[in-house]
Amino acid sequence: MDLIRKVFDAGVVGAGGAGFPTHVKLKCKVEYLIVNGAECEPLLETDKYLMRTKSNEVIRAIEEVGRQVEAEQIVLGLKRKYKEEIKQLQEAIQKLNAKIKLYLSDNFYPAGDEQILVYEITKRAIPAGGLPLDVNTLVVNIGTLVNIYDAMEGRPVIDKYVTVIGEVHRPCMLRVPIGISVAECIAAAGGSALRTFAVAMGGPMMGRIIRQDQMEDEVITKTTGALIVLPKDHYIVQRKELPVPHMINQAKTACIQCSMCTDLCPRYLIGHRLRPHRIMRSIGLSESSEEILKEALICCECGICELYACPMVLSPRNMNVYLKQELREKGIRHQKNHETPTAEPMREYRKIPIDRLIARLHLGKYKNTKVEGPFEVATSRVKIPLSQHIGKPAQPIVKVGDQVHKGQVIAEAEAEGIGARSHAGIDGKVVEVSDAIVILSKKNGVIL
Ligand code: SF4
Ligand code: SF4
Repeated sequence: MDLIRKVFDAGVVGAGGAGFPTHVKLKCKVEYLIVNGAECEPLLETDKYLMRTKSNEVIRAIEEVGRQVEAEQIVLGLKRKYKEEIKQLQEAIQKLNAKIKLYLSDNFYPAGDEQILVYEITKRAIPAGGLPLDVNTLVVNIGTLVNIYDAMEGRPVIDKYVTVIGEVHRPCMLRVPIGISVAECIAAAGGSALRTFAVAMGGPMMGRIIRQDQMEDEVITKTTGALIVLPKDHYIVQRKELPVPHMINQAKTACIQCSMCTDLCPRYLIGHRLRPHRIMRSIGLSESSEEILKEALICCECGICELYACPMVLSPRNMNVYLKQELREKGIRHQKNHETPTAEPMREYRKIPIDRLIARLHLGKYKNTKVEGPFEVATSRVKIPLSQHIGKPAQPIVKVGDQVHKGQVIAEAEAEGIGARSHAGIDGKVVEVSDAIVILSKKNGVIL
């Protein structure tokens, strides 16, 4: 069976970001295969853990993907400061006689943004609204490669490594079934000493906030990499929870047009026509310019403008998120510009050092936390969303009352379409089929 079929069968999607179905991504021929090991968000440990402990599997999967896409050059990008990970990967490359180069980057944010990583390695800027393929490149991240390796061995994607850090008794790396609740993950990390807290799911910069009353219902999906437990009144929680009308009022009344948001925007700095200060000004005008507002469509939502750059504590990123939704509802899409962008000459000096970012985010307390584990977590209930990826949701092929076993396909996708199938993460009985499939098991005292 060929690699693409195995990857489809296993339901592999991008393990970080939006979860693009991997079997679709692999249907190309490229000059560069770039492996993203430059974990982007502060405090996350998951990819580092995988590079350290699964270096042979990662290298074997990279070689297989490289053959599939006929890559002329294969480069694994990670941070220079990842000493142990570099050592493990170099040993695996040597042992397997692999033709893979390591690219060592500085410790800045967002080093792991795929467009930034492609630019750092190839010096090719992807056109605004474009894909790495536009510059003859394919980018795959470390978590995805571990899943590709498992797919090569016939194992489907049914579990996930997740960093749980912040206000928990035992910060740790967990290996959990996909579909387990956020509440169970926090309990597995010893619970929180705080009576009221919130969780930044995915990371402090690009993640979303989960409130305490949502934690039983919110689940780990194929793209979740971290849970950062924070006090409910933490700076990040408050910034991300700001209501839209409040943000709009702030943009109208408090933006001083200093342009710091644009000067530090990583997409602007690689040459994209994205100027958040002009978007903020346009919002403030009684007749805003649609041409300017449309620039929001190419924002990658990295959060630098909002959580790092703006001296007035305004929310250009969240305004962009809001505008994107409004524009898409009106059917307005970004018109792809095929011109090659030219990076700003000052770009090199405007990278955001991670330590400064952590201090600005009020996360210094957690910076040197020792992360224990990995600990394997079992559960008696999983809720597996039908849409854990970009594209068409998977179609359920089980019904309420069916007994399913761990690894069984429970929702199907078309092999030629953009979608991914889902598998049961535990043995048990299907008790709900809606936009998610809920499975309960008899284990851990739950009797069906
Ligand atoms: S979130 Fe802000 S800094 Fe990041 S890409 Fe969007 S506009 Fe630029
Ligand atoms: S950094 Fe803040 S105050 Fe300055 S232009 Fe941007 S949104 Fe306005």
